[in-house]
Amino acid sequence: MRRSMGHNYGGVWTVSPAWTSQTCHQCGEIGIRVSDETATSEMKRGEFFYCAECDEHFHADINASRNIIHVQQKKMSSAVPGRSA
Ligand SMILES: [Zn+2]
Repeated sequence: MRRSMGHNYGGVWTVSPAWTSQTCHQCGEIGIRVSDETATSEMKRGEFFYCAECDEHFHADINASRNIIHVQQKKMSSAVPGRSA
């Protein structure tokens, strides 16, 4: 599952929109897209992201942008403003 999500492309780490929108920026687990910040059942193209590992909701765009920052800068970042649950 994780390999197919973009963890291993012949050793080259690629950042795809799909990967960043389905991976929790906090713990790295695969989460789901949901319709709102209280939903826990998957809705494709939902506006929010839900991580069952963290039991937290994030706005999908913020989660994705934080994932990109992690990959590109290789550091824990609080540079992207956003609400914390
Ligand atoms: Zn998580």
